[in-house]
Amino acid sequence: MGKVYIVGAGPGDPELLTIKALKVIQKADVILYDRLINPEILFHAKPGCELVYVGKEDGKHILEQEKINFLLYEFAKNNDIVVRLKGGDPFVFGRGGEEAIFLKEKGIPFEIVPGITSAISVPLYAGVPVTHRGTASSFAVVTGHGSKGQFPDINWDALAGIDTVIFLMGVSNRQKIAQNLINAGKNPETPVIFIEKGTTREQKEVESTLKEVAEGGVKVHPPAIFLVGEVVKLREKIKWLEDALGRVKV
Ligand code: SAH
Repeated sequence: MGKVYIVGAGPGDPELLTIKALKVIQKADVILYDRLINPEILFHAKPGCELVYVGKEDGKHILEQEKINFLLYEFAKNNDIVVRLKGGDPFVFGRGGEEAIFLKEKGIPFEIVPGITSAISVPLYAGVPVTHRGTASSFAVVTGHGSKGQFPDINWDALAGIDTVIFLMGVSNRQKIAQNLINAGKNPETPVIFIEKGTTREQKEVESTLKEVAEGGVKVHPPAIFLVGEVVKLREKIKWLEDALGRVKV
């Protein structure tokens, strides 16, 4: 029986990979990877490494989780090193825990390698700190999508009391999310930002307010981070990515 590594690949920028992740990718016999994995990361695989795409498309799994588990089992039986590569961090809305439980139940040895989650790093690339002295002393990372595609069951009253709220998978439900936060007492003028394809060359930011989002006035495409909080205003002072890339803003 081989060993399975559940590995976080970071948010998109292929250099935001840990050294530990890079090392296991380089020695993997098989890599099962998700949709949001930057293909450049797969170039680190050794010649002959089997690359297996097991991602989701438009919200539905190409392979159901049970099938992914079955593949992990089969590949682990016939290979030394199997890497299960996931976007961001494997334990932040990444189902890494479910796979770890499965592997443990089957007696398959495994290790887990954390990754840089998009929840925090994508705002950072947009110049938005999730906490800031005097502005935000708390943040929450929340799913904008229920596990079966339904609107998520969230304690909105509790969430309205958090300074910075970061929604993952929140693009399609953005209007309802914004309305729920307003209903729970969040100021409708609270600034928000959507950051599409963060940390990649195609990163795009859209700033707005909770009220505008609730009214349906904001266009945005997934994958995106939807961040709500006064920290968005700090972007004006912190924004750095365009300078770093030498990009000219038109
Ligand atoms: N485990 C991942 C999150 C998986 S859920 C992590 O830790 O980052 C998938 C959601 O993450 C997407 O719907 C989107 O909201 C967010 N996401 C992941 N990568 C992103 C990126 N590069 N830019 C913007 N949002 C991203």
